[in-house]
Amino acid sequence: MIKLLYLHEPGVLQNLATRYKHNEIYTYAGNILIAINPFKRLPHLYNTTMMEHYKEATFGELSPHVFAVADVAYREMINKGTSSSILVSGESGSGKTETTKMLMNYLAYLGGRPKVEGWTVEQKILESNPVVEAFGNAKTVNNNNSSRFGKFVEIHFDQNWRISGATIQTYLLERSRVCHISKAERNYHIFYLLCAAPQEVKKKYELGSPKLFHYLNQSDCYELDGVNDADEYLATRKAMDIVGISEDEQEAIFRVVAAILHLGNIEFEKGKEEDSSAIKTKTRCHLDMTAKLLECDAKRLEDALIKNVLKACKEGTTRNLKTNAALNSRDALAKSIYFRLFNWIVDKINKSIGQDGNSKSMIGVLDLTGFESFDHNSFEQFCFNYSNEKLQGHFNQHVLKMNQEEYTKEGIEWSYVGDKQDVLNLIEHKHGIIALLNECSSSLTDTHETFCQKLYVKFKNNNFFSKPINPQNSFTLRHFAGKVTYEANLFLEKNKDYVVDNHQNLLAASSCRFVVGLFPSPAQEQNTLNASKFSSIGSSFMEDLNKLIEKLNSTTHQYIRCVKPNNCLKPTTFENCSIIRQLRSGGVLKAIEISCAEYPTKLMFYEFLDRFGVLAPEVLEGNHDDKAACQMILKKMGLKTNQLCRCMQSCRMYYAQV
Ligand code: ADP
Ligand code: MG
Repeated sequence: MIKLLYLHEPGVLQNLATRYKHNEIYTYAGNILIAINPFKRLPHLYNTTMMEHYKEATFGELSPHVFAVADVAYREMINKGTSSSILVSGESGSGKTETTKMLMNYLAYLGGRPKVEGWTVEQKILESNPVVEAFGNAKTVNNNNSSRFGKFVEIHFDQNWRISGATIQTYLLERSRVCHISKAERNYHIFYLLCAAPQEVKKKYELGSPKLFHYLNQSDCYELDGVNDADEYLATRKAMDIVGISEDEQEAIFRVVAAILHLGNIEFEKGKEEDSSAIKTKTRCHLDMTAKLLECDAKRLEDALIKNVLKACKEGTTRNLKTNAALNSRDALAKSIYFRLFNWIVDKINKSIGQDGNSKSMIGVLDLTGFESFDHNSFEQFCFNYSNEKLQGHFNQHVLKMNQEEYTKEGIEWSYVGDKQDVLNLIEHKHGIIALLNECSSSLTDTHETFCQKLYVKFKNNNFFSKPINPQNSFTLRHFAGKVTYEANLFLEKNKDYVVDNHQNLLAASSCRFVVGLFPSPAQEQNTLNASKFSSIGSSFMEDLNKLIEKLNSTTHQYIRCVKPNNCLKPTTFENCSIIRQLRSGGVLKAIEISCAEYPTKLMFYEFLDRFGVLAPEVLEGNHDDKAACQMILKKMGLKTNQLCRCMQSCRMYYAQV
């Protein structure tokens, strides 16, 4: 991109559009790789022959490619012993997860070992993707395979630069999806895969078509174009074998998944006592099946759904729940189980892959949930967008800082006032939105209305905050990628991280070791955590992100910006406005602009002589050192050295775009 003679938005866009038309989906803009989602398979780009090409090539010699970026990280590690992070960012559906997988494939190719008995570390790392995606991805309006969690995969290398271990860190799985799905979206893939399993499996768990289950039939979307859930089920089982999840564990996992589907079908009606509820007779079979699958007592499960244990009273005192509260209790149970199951799977994969404590170098690949703005946005979008904001802040700071440092080192007077991170400040300041949310979540008197009122009062003068006319109890934030209005009605509830005592006790008493393992007994937990202490999801997410940024800061970085060319997920459509918005908000244009305004082209003195020496052959014939020769050429051409070009202390020459 920076080789373009005229650098401006239309030029950049035209360049990308032309390349895209020829399936050239990758373009460098300085140190950043722009990747435009092709929305079609391009196998020739990623086969082994391509990997071989990139392995041998110096950077920039071949067409821009995600392999070249991974190659730089790997070479730097070998040459300098540095650890690198490859940060893949972009909106939901722009291709981050696919890009991450290509990067991991290529790194496994570079650092893999010869075939051995059983599965190698790199095979396990690669096969962790389909497993984690089956449980953590779902169809949204933006993407048929949208990751509903963020992930940072750290690949460790030994002293021979072979892969020796890995850690998969996941961030904030979207829990609400387990119970609520919007139009044209699906629940997590695994539910549909299990409903498409071989007959004997379905029979064992009393499953049938997804249309029979409340958690799946709230939207009329059941199938995905080009995806066969029955095949995917088998592929997922195979991948689970490879990552080291045993046959018994897999059985338990699917039993729990099936239990969640049955649990969702339990319905309630008014009970005999006032303000109480009872299980609708026709759904009692699902209660029994849930209890059977979770290996817990059916009566206890029933009580756990329709009654609440009163903590303040003496042990065992319960209160009846109205039908609505019972429904909420059912959904809370489903969400807790699914969330713990997801974490269990990630932990298990980590244990099975193993970490290399002696490793000095690692290459990390970051794939956070992309920026999202739907018709209705809730706490999940708030968190996802906050994490994108955080990553964007890191990008701005790093890209600007990098230039600044280099110019300072070379003695060039140069200053650039970076963007202030005011949205981040608004969210994470000690008196910011998360702090206020925590205050309201832990108070007995606050509601989403009071939360919003407090927000309106506190941030009324903040440029990044506004109160929309409707809906009520919502607030709008001006993010780097656009404005988003958040509906706050479930914020307080969703921010609380706890498992209802009743549910905890029920599952801790299961006769299934796997289920008990998901819900260690309260006695054990109380030792580590004061049970009455409120634990905030917002705050722990913030801590996780800060730790992540700290880790990123201890490595060198490569950036890949994924771009979604259109919203209809079609291969040939190139929507200029949307693309330019993504490039602008993602800081790509700013990065190009900086190069453009300053010194985008950097040549060694000898390279300058090579290229422009023809203007003054007599200089070349003389016995001058390279720097002096460059100055003489400039002088001959009537250019002041301090006007267009500057010859620096080092052997490099910078010149502005003319
Ligand atoms: P994100 O993680 O940014 O939300 P994904 O990586 O899941 O987006 O990509 C969305 C979809 O776009 C994929 O399911 C795939 O169909 C398509 N896609 C993305 N990148 C590529 C690629 N390099 N080649 C082919 N298809 C791609
Ligand atoms: Mg993704």
